[in-house]
Amino acid sequence: MTSLKPVRGTHDIMNEECRGHRHVASVARTISHRYGFAEIATPVFEFSEVFRRTLGEISDIVTKEMYSFEDRGGSEITLRPEGTAGIARAFISNGMAQNLPCKFFYEGPMFRYERPQKGRLRQFHQVGVEILGVPTPQADIEIITLGAHILRELGVAHKTVLEINSLGDRESRSAYSKVLVAYFTKHRDALSENSCTRLGRNPLRILDSKDKGDHELVADAPSMSDYLNDTSQAFFDEVLNGLKSLGIKISVNPRLVRGLDYYCHTAFEFTTKVLGAQGAVIAGGRYDGLIEQMGGPSTPGVGWAAGIERLSMLLSELPSSLRPIAVIPVDKEAQSKAMNIAQTLRESGYVVDMGYSGNLAKRMKRADRMNACVAVLLSGDELGRNSATLRDLDSGEQSEIPLDDLTDRLSAFR
Ligand code: ATP
Ligand code: MG
Repeated sequence: MTSLKPVRGTHDIMNEECRGHRHVASVARTISHRYGFAEIATPVFEFSEVFRRTLGEISDIVTKEMYSFEDRGGSEITLRPEGTAGIARAFISNGMAQNLPCKFFYEGPMFRYERPQKGRLRQFHQVGVEILGVPTPQADIEIITLGAHILRELGVAHKTVLEINSLGDRESRSAYSKVLVAYFTKHRDALSENSCTRLGRNPLRILDSKDKGDHELVADAPSMSDYLNDTSQAFFDEVLNGLKSLGIKISVNPRLVRGLDYYCHTAFEFTTKVLGAQGAVIAGGRYDGLIEQMGGPSTPGVGWAAGIERLSMLLSELPSSLRPIAVIPVDKEAQSKAMNIAQTLRESGYVVDMGYSGNLAKRMKRADRMNACVAVLLSGDELGRNSATLRDLDSGEQSEIPLDDLTDRLSAFR
C-alpha cells in the first residue's frame, strides 16, 4: 500500500506542528508588515525556464533538486524550489519597475528533491522578503534588521548567530575568483569530485562545500575580504556599521558565499547549532543582476528566505491556543437546544466544541481530548426549568445555573 503513504520527504502537518508553523508565519507576516512590506503570493509552479534563468543551469537546485514535469499542454513546468525567481518574474510581468522601490513578503511551500533528514524535506515551507529597486546599503540593513526582529519576536534569537560576508562587486569577485581557482587547482587532488566540477564553473561554491574532506582546504583558502575594491569595502562597512548602530550582533564569516553570478555585496545567514547539520534558518543576500538576467530592466535587489520548519523547531513554547467550551446534550430532548446554544456562544466569540453523538461518558471523553475548560451540560429536565449545568473541567466543580446567565458565567473561562 505504498500509495497510501505520503511521498518521501513530505508529511501531514497536524496539531502542535501546525500551530508552530502558523505562529512562525504569522509573526513573520506581522513584523514584515510593520517594516512596510506588502504580501505577494506567486504561483506554486512556473515555467521551468523561470528557475533555470534565475538559479543558473549549474546550480545544485537546477541540476539536482527540481521537481519538473511536462503538463498536458506540453509546457515544461517546475514546482518552485524557492521564492525569489517567481517574484522576479512577477515583477517583470506586471511592469512593477515603474513604482520603485517594491517591498514584498511571501509565505508558502517550496519543493526540492533532496535527501530527507531532520530539517530537510522535499516539501518545506518558507517565509521570505525582497526589496527591489534600492541600490544602497540601507536596504541590506533594513532587511537583516527585520530578520533579527522576527527571531527576537519568536523568542529564538539567543539560539542564532548572524553570519555575514561581502561578495563585493563584479570587479572584486572576478579578481577573487581567479585567485581561488589558482589555489584549488593547486590542490585539485584533495578536492571532492563535486568541488572539482565547480572549479571550472562556479569556484565560489566550493567554499560552501558540504564535503568534510574539502573543509580543511577551504579553511586555508584565500579570503574574499582581501580582494574587495574600495567601493565594495565601503559598501560592506556601511552595512556593518548600520547594523551595529541598531544593536545587531554580527559575526563576519569570510567563507560565506552565494554561488550565483548575480549575487553581490552582502551575503548573510542566521545560523543555529541546535539543528545539527541543518544550521541555516534564514539565508539571504543582495542580487543586483538578477532582474536584468531574467530579461527585465536592471533593478537592484536584496532579500532573504527562512525555513518555517527549522524556525518552528527552535521555538521553546507555543502561545497557548483558546481552550474550547464543550456543549453537551445529556439526552435527546436537549439535542436541538444544544445546537442553538452552541451557535449563540460561537457568535459571541467563544470557541465551542460539540460532540455529534454518543452517551455522556463518550462526550465527556471528547471534551477532555479537546482540552475543553468547561462543559455546559444540557438535559430536557433542566431546560424545562430554563437552566443548565456548568462543570469546570479542571476543578470538577459543577452547579446549575439559569440559561440567561450562561454567557456571563462563561466569560470567566475566556
Ligand atoms: P542548505 O544549505 O541547508 O541546503 P540552502 O542554501 O539550500 O540551505 P536557501 O535556498 O538559502 O537554503 O533557503 C533558505 C532557507 O530555507 C534555509 O536557510 C533553510 O532554513 C530553508 N530550507 C532550504 N532547503 C530546505 C529543505 N529542503 N527543507 C527544509 N528547509 C529548507
Ligand atoms: Mg540546499
